Parts: sequence; structure tokens; C-alpha cells
Amino acid sequence: MRRELAPWLTGREVRSVDLLAPAGPKYAGLERLAGRLIEGVGRRGKFLLMPLSGGLELVAHLGMTGVIADHAPDARASTHLRVRVELSGGDPGTLFFSDPRRFGRFLVVDAGHYPTLPTLAALGPEPLGDDFTPAGLAAACARSTMPVKAYLLSQRPVAGVGNIYADEALWRAGVHPRTPAAWLGEDQVAALCAAIREVLAAAVAAQGTTLSDYRTVRGGTGEYARQLQAYGRAGEACPRCGTEMERSIVGQRGTTHCPTCQPAPRKTRRGA
Ligand SMILES: [Zn+2]
Repeated sequence: MRRELAPWLTGREVRSVDLLAPAGPKYAGLERLAGRLIEGVGRRGKFLLMPLSGGLELVAHLGMTGVIADHAPDARASTHLRVRVELSGGDPGTLFFSDPRRFGRFLVVDAGHYPTLPTLAALGPEPLGDDFTPAGLAAACARSTMPVKAYLLSQRPVAGVGNIYADEALWRAGVHPRTPAAWLGEDQVAALCAAIREVLAAAVAAQGTTLSDYRTVRGGTGEYARQLQAYGRAGEACPRCGTEMERSIVGQRGTTHCPTCQPAPRKTRRGA
């Protein structure tokens, strides 16, 4: 999404903003957006970060079902339209932010100032950057007894891993999603680190995963759904070993794993 937005929005000035949702912290500061120049489109984890003239920053997060589009939603989806931004310059000249399940955010803050966005303030390293290493992930995991899947979803050990990609990476790495993070052995951490990189790189290349609502900015579908091997496949044969995949709840999220490839957690001696 960032790759689609950057060439479109960079250098555009915001003419006006319509907030179609009730005002609140998820849409804070939008009254400061009109008249600002969008200086670029960056990203940290699942947050889009757009620096604005005047030392401000537009922060957007899609939540579970948010969509940023360069065209109006169709009639069925139009009740979920939350923000409309009119831009200077040529077509497409309007940005639409829709959010059916209301977990998304679209707000203006002082640049780099995130007291109302604790997840963003505490994000772990970028998964495709040089700072995400097996040693760093091991050090982070050693500090947490959370189930490793829930810990990944917290965004603290590494940024950007959501429910779909957590299931995929843990399956690839052969790690049971309920394993306490601190119990992971060195080999498991290394495998998980590599798997997270592989899954996210492939998903970005495929423009994400469309299961129902997600669309690219231009309205296309993210094609990584075709490559999913674990997520949503409970009751099907594991693509690697043929065992029936199982569904459970970890960290309040539906989770699929293979009981053979991802055996139940067993405490290992770190560094042994
Ligand atoms: Zn398996």
C-alpha cells in the first residue's frame, strides 16, 4: 500500500478533509490537515506515516478491515466510509478511507509524537531491515513468557506481523504458536526469524492478502491468499506432512497449526 500511495500522494497539498465518522481519538487532529503538503509516504510495521508541512504527520492504520482507495467505495461499502481527503493537482484527486469494523485509525499528530499510539511508540525492528536479527529476536523473546504467537502480534519483538503472517511464519519455522517465547531454543528463533522475513517479503511482493475486505489502493486484490499454507486451513492436510491441521485460540485470535510439524511446547535450555 505504501508503494502505491507514495508516487500518488508525495508533493500533493490537502485542500479539504471530511470526517464522516464520529470525532474521537482514532481521528484526532484531522482539522489540522487542510492546507498541508504531503511530503512523503513512509511506513513502520502496519502504520503508514506521512510527514506533512508544518512539522505534522498523518498516521494511518487499517486495523483489520480498513481500506485506503483512490476511488469512491461502491454503494454497499459507502456506509463504511470514514474520511474523505481532497487533494490539489490532477486525478485521482480524492483519497477515501473506509473501515467497516472500526479498528482503523487516521489521525494527525506532531511529527514523531506518539503518546496516543502506544503500539507505534513501542514497535520492534522492521522485519525486512538489517536490525531484525536472530540474536535480537532471541533477546526479545527471552524477556517474555507470552505464547510466541501473542508476543509476535504485540508488535514488540518485530513490527508488522499480524494474525495471518504469524500463523504462516510459525508453521514454516515448525514452532507451536502457544510456546512461551522465552522457551524457544536458538534454532527455533533462527528459523522463526528467517520465516518471518520470507513470509512478509513474499506477501509484500503479492500486494498483501485479500480474504474479504482488503483491497489495494486502486481496488485490486492482494494475491498472497493463494500462497497461504497454514492460516485458515484447519481441518485440511498439512502441505508439508499431511497431518490434519488444527484450530485453536491463542491471544484471543483464531490460530491454525500442524500438530506434527509444530509439536507442543517443551522447555529447552537456552544456549545449550
Ligand atoms: Zn505438518
